Amino acid sequence: MEQTRPSGPDRRQFMKTMALGAAALGLGAVWPGGASAGEIVQPPLPYPENALEPYISARTVKFHYGKHHLGYVKKTNAYIKGTPWEGKSLEQIILGSYRKDDYLFNNAAQVWNHNFYWQSMKPGGGGQPTGELASMMKAAFGSVDAAKQALVKASATRFGSGWGWLAIKDGRLVVVSSSNALNPLVDKMKPLITIDVWEHAYYLDYQNRRGGYIRGVMDHLINWDFAARNLAS
Ligand code: FE
Repeated sequence: MEQTRPSGPDRRQFMKTMALGAAALGLGAVWPGGASAGEIVQPPLPYPENALEPYISARTVKFHYGKHHLGYVKKTNAYIKGTPWEGKSLEQIILGSYRKDDYLFNNAAQVWNHNFYWQSMKPGGGGQPTGELASMMKAAFGSVDAAKQALVKASATRFGSGWGWLAIKDGRLVVVSSSNALNPLVDKMKPLITIDVWEHAYYLDYQNRRGGYIRGVMDHLINWDFAARNLAS
């Protein structure tokens, strides 16, 4: 996990909500991707496949959600069936398999990361966060724009496949990036929002232009309400 250091003063430091949607991220919370009849369930997309156009095409969402994300769900379920992992929550599987069972960790964490990613965006998103979230961004990075730019940079510069995150660590807001399936949960952080920077997230629409994809997400899709709900949970 690589952390982007705040440049400004550093003074301070999901449950079932949407019908099957928004979530509490406290460990042990009931997550919509949690176990159901022993299986991990892929939450429904929070919007239609074409809702993120023109910034992310329906074709990309169709493959990303219907092939990549679903693939991680299927592999996790096939692997845990008939084992003591069956019936555990997704968070329990992630934390329990971390550094012990790479195959299970990678697939389960990718399920969780994608559950979180779809909710990190919405049609008509972007704009500016408000309230406590904005205050914490200012406290950690000097300004909201500086915090947003730090997330853009961390996501853009992540080498290879991975994720950019806004998270809470020890009571203060941080920007981190992670490689492959890693996420802030394993470092005892509370994730607020994420950007998937695996090539499958953007290649059909942007080819190698990861920066254009990130800009589209940050300016037009990012769901600050979701981040604020996670902060408050
Ligand atoms: Fe992905």
